[in-house]
Amino acid sequence: MTSNQLSGQPFFSFKDQSLWVEGLALNSLAQAHGTPLFVYSKAAMLSALAAYQRGFAGRKSQVCYAMKANPALGVIQVFVQAGCGFDIVSGGELERVLAAGADAAKVIFSGVGKTRAEIRQALEAGIGCFNVESEAELEVLNGVALGLGKVAPVSIRVNPNVDPKTHPYISTGLKGNKFGVAHERVLQTYQRAAALPGLQVVGIDCHIGSQITLESPYLDAVDRVLDLVQAIEAAGIHLHHLDFGGGLGINYGGSADAEPPAADALWAKLLAKLDARGYGQRLLMIEPGRSLVGNAGTCVTEVLYLKPGEQKNFCVIDAAMNDLPRPAMYQAFHQIVPLVNRPEATTTLYEVVGPICESGDWIGHDRNLAVKQGDLLAVMSAGAYCMGMASNYNSRGRAAEILVDGTQAHVIRERETTADQMRNERLV
Ligand SMILES: *Cc1c(COP(=O)(O)O)cnc(C)c1O
Repeated sequence: MTSNQLSGQPFFSFKDQSLWVEGLALNSLAQAHGTPLFVYSKAAMLSALAAYQRGFAGRKSQVCYAMKANPALGVIQVFVQAGCGFDIVSGGELERVLAAGADAAKVIFSGVGKTRAEIRQALEAGIGCFNVESEAELEVLNGVALGLGKVAPVSIRVNPNVDPKTHPYISTGLKGNKFGVAHERVLQTYQRAAALPGLQVVGIDCHIGSQITLESPYLDAVDRVLDLVQAIEAAGIHLHHLDFGGGLGINYGGSADAEPPAADALWAKLLAKLDARGYGQRLLMIEPGRSLVGNAGTCVTEVLYLKPGEQKNFCVIDAAMNDLPRPAMYQAFHQIVPLVNRPEATTTLYEVVGPICESGDWIGHDRNLAVKQGDLLAVMSAGAYCMGMASNYNSRGRAAEILVDGTQAHVIRERETTADQMRNERLV
């Protein structure tokens, strides 16, 4: 693969050998704001959303952006303005979506470990649905709702026991995973929910994993969920909405990577199944995260040192595993391309590594790059599960974030200072 091909990132392209995002050169953004720097394309986010909207044209549907993929307020705001709801997994995420202007009624709350305080906070805000993940949670939710004199809208997250064929850490719909209620227990759990006075059953939910690049796990999961819907409704419990979760993968540009199905093509197949079984006119909800933002972002970083070695040559950059945790966590691949392409220069094979004191702090293995000290590189497909997972390890401040809209660059997060990091600490 040459550095001119940026798989799946049509809003990032080379003009006169230098990398642009929409109407701005990444080089000038890096000069103005420093590195490491996350840069997101608003048009890329809206284009990814549009694929889902085309898929659901003419249907009753609600796209709930799974905001843990990229929790920046400025990113959430893009999806608020586009009419999205949100899938949240903590009280902190609830505060973020509300701060960005989300309608609480379009918020759904997932996660296996909701605390009583978070449940109370979400009930008071008036969220649209709790995606309940266990029988024990159902009882706690009922108790908290009754205590507040409220009725909690619930959907049960079912575990359809299908293999999404993705990395084991991001597979969530298998029997051995901590998520959802086991297939065999689903009907009893719905009957219990329907009997509890503090709850109102409104839907069913499943989410089988992340970075799914095949359509077969979705087709299997839909079949299994619809079997459950049929059994639940036969028991007299009506389900107003059907929520099929998120998880659709993106193309990270790795040589061995499968091209994931396009959202509209995938949904055409899923809708055919729903129609065939008579459920196509229900309110359909989905919770995509990565597929809305992953390929809308890049992380610009500077080459600090080139370090030739006997076995390997190292390219030491100023971004690290605290900024880009996916390689260390999931052995994930990100394309790495110089911001300025020098087609005539000879390339060298490098291990691209960050400055952190861990051998796990690598960003790319065996990359052919024509670079010199001081050059800028773009680590591509960095819009999802990068800044949201960023840490302060080695007391590194988190990077700044820029949202590009045409020829305009908005700073949506200032670079974190050491004073920011130390703010809540006290000497004894
Ligand atoms: C993380 C998550 C999502 C989004 O997953 P993506 O792979 O980013 O699309 C959706 N629903 C739930 C419950 C999640 O935990």
